[in-house]
Amino acid sequence: MEKDPNLFVENAAAALDDTDLQTALDRGTYNANSRRVVAMGELEDAAALRQQGRGAKLRALHDLPEMLEQVEAKLTRRGARVLWATDAEEARAHVLDICRKHDVKRAVKSKSMVTEEIYLLPALEQAGIEMVETDLGEYIVQIDHSHPSHIVMPIMHMTKERVRGIMMDKIGMPYTDDAGEMTLYARKMLREKYLQADLGMSGGNFLIAETGTVVVVCNEGNARLSTGVPPVHVAVVGIEKVVPTWEDFVTLVQLLPRSATGQRMTVYVNCFSGPAPATEADGPQDFYVILLDNGRSNIYASDYAEALACIRCGACLNACPVYQSVGGLSYGSVYSGPIGAIVTPLLKGKENASALPFASSLCGACKSACPVDINIPDMLLMLRRDLQHVQEPQIQVGMKGYGFAFSHPLLYQTGGRLASIAARAAASMTGGDHIDQLPPPFDGWTQERDFPPFAAQSFHDWWRENRGK
Ligand code: SF4
Repeated sequence: MEKDPNLFVENAAAALDDTDLQTALDRGTYNANSRRVVAMGELEDAAALRQQGRGAKLRALHDLPEMLEQVEAKLTRRGARVLWATDAEEARAHVLDICRKHDVKRAVKSKSMVTEEIYLLPALEQAGIEMVETDLGEYIVQIDHSHPSHIVMPIMHMTKERVRGIMMDKIGMPYTDDAGEMTLYARKMLREKYLQADLGMSGGNFLIAETGTVVVVCNEGNARLSTGVPPVHVAVVGIEKVVPTWEDFVTLVQLLPRSATGQRMTVYVNCFSGPAPATEADGPQDFYVILLDNGRSNIYASDYAEALACIRCGACLNACPVYQSVGGLSYGSVYSGPIGAIVTPLLKGKENASALPFASSLCGACKSACPVDINIPDMLLMLRRDLQHVQEPQIQVGMKGYGFAFSHPLLYQTGGRLASIAARAAASMTGGDHIDQLPPPFDGWTQERDFPPFAAQSFHDWWRENRGK
């Protein structure tokens, strides 16, 4: 069962005690982060490309309704069927209707976070349809009955040893220490599933408005097999994935793999603009595109619209010191890390994930890593402002007092002097130069950090003395 986002602190404490998880996170985030830095560093002008990518996404968002209509018109003209889903329930209902219409018993699916977001797998299972994940990481998660912990690398939270244990337990893999052999074993199991499937599913990394094309990038070739072998292809795509032109796509497709996995380009770039023409022997005869809203329109109409520019590369997760320490499952949401801490409260309702915007040191590593320069720290601060009312009473009172003191200079200076004298007196009673432990109700603050000593002279006094004239 997915964890509760509002129990982030408790989930994080348990994660910090999990030595296996810590090993997996150290390896995974370090590798991903350093590969990204190298790959972005190879670009002649990475800063300019980032701004170009950002511009492409922001232009698409500016004209989102028109772009989506364009996508629908182009796809429909080539024989695809476009369905709109306001929420997760409607999206699941569309998929189940398609399955009934085509008498689907078995299906395969390439990696897609939106299908996780709409809880599609349990709904299909309940309807008696076998849906097999074909991305290796997602497949491991599926046979382990757990959840992905990263938007690009679903098993970032598992060591190779743990994956081997799961594969030996659940699908009878013989012991091996070779990751290549483990991959081959899973590949052999999955090959049969493609051939048996009545339907294949995918998400979509980009929706290109000028031609109405769904683009799926992947490295394992599973997206091509999942969508090309079965007779029916269903793509569930979030409405924010639209980009205006192929030129914009060319910009973004340079940024996405470099930021996600440190590759110059993914191994496969799959483009779908309609079902296979009658003259083609291969490819699906029916192609459905489900355009998913599920709260995105509300984000679009809010101060947080910039969050929709995210291309789901996962770079901000890998760069974040909080994610690096506690992993994705602690967030209790499909979308974890810094961008998840924004998107989850906006999609689920702010009060239902109120702990997440506070799960950040606001160091800014996420913004620096983001290939489309999304201002994540500012949005986290805005969410904290919006969530003041759910804070503990002492924090609410403290912040109000802080705000009042900051807007009254005399009170601020007098309070500072008094606090400095009191802190010095308290420190000298314990024989040190600073306070180790604040008294209740502030003691939580000093559980993990020191209370820094006050400077001998305040900045105001220094300024008056040295620059006042
Ligand atoms: S916010 Fe930026 S860095 Fe994070 S996943 Fe989205 S695009 Fe990547």
